[in-house]
Amino acid sequence: MSDPSLFSLHGKRALITGASRGIGFTLAQGLGSFGAEIILNGRNAAHLDSARARLEAEGIATRGSVFDVTDQDQVLAGVEAIEKEGPIDILINNAGIQSRAPLDQFPRAEWDRLISTNLNAVFFVAQAVSRGMIARQSGKIVNICSVQSELARPGIAPYTATKGAVKMLTKGMATDWARHGLQINGLAPGYFETEMNAALVADPEFSSWLCKRTPAARWGKASELVGAAVFLSSEASSFVNGHILMVDGGLTASV
Ligand code: NDP
Repeated sequence: MSDPSLFSLHGKRALITGASRGIGFTLAQGLGSFGAEIILNGRNAAHLDSARARLEAEGIATRGSVFDVTDQDQVLAGVEAIEKEGPIDILINNAGIQSRAPLDQFPRAEWDRLISTNLNAVFFVAQAVSRGMIARQSGKIVNICSVQSELARPGIAPYTATKGAVKMLTKGMATDWARHGLQINGLAPGYFETEMNAALVADPEFSSWLCKRTPAARWGKASELVGAAVFLSSEASSFVNGHILMVDGGLTASV
């Protein structure tokens, strides 16, 4: 069977968290170009406005929804406001942060911030969105995981813990919600040149390690995540559930 409309997102509304820049912004651009109506989320109204203006200039009309994903009350109010205007068919649970410090000195406040943003928030937003999806017996949730869902690297054990947990939360959500017509999958990027990785991008030693370690021998470009995200958001993946799709240039495939 060959049907390009399998990948069409026309008529679908997609909420993308943490979409003011980086991977979230690029996924908004990508899903928008496949026809989805995009709702961009971020904490900062000015950042969101400038992201929306950039997309508008490319002919992608969006709605902005300012809320902090770590605050469950804000999440519930934000999702309710979006759903007053129409259903959320697709959720890309993308907002996330990184934090580096020697593990034996890792500050408690940073640990809490990581768990709050990278794990609690994934649950808060998915749970809020799931209620409408379950009522409609239809919906797609893509949780952004990481190669760190599979592999540990020095200096980032707490981040690694959050991404490992998101992987298993994704499988758990699929196990509970597939019977209600929902599909919940994970998209796990390798190393991409975004603001989150600014220090690593600027470090030639790290880039050299990465290129040796990755079979594709380079950093990823955020646009290279779009195909996987569209697949997991569209009819093309209609029987895929609880799967973690690695987009990492082969990094986790090799020793
Ligand atoms: P960036 O730091 O470039 O962007 C993060 C985005 O998240 C920003 O738009 C920021 O918005 C938003 N954000 C952060 N905290 C919150 C919050 N509490 N509420 C709402 N929005 C928030 O990160 P990336 O694009 O690199 O990463 C995106 C996701 O991909 C993360 O989950 C990350 O862990 C994951 N990932 C990234 C990889 C990479 O190589 N870059 C590799 C593997 C996974 P603002 O500050 O404007 O509020």
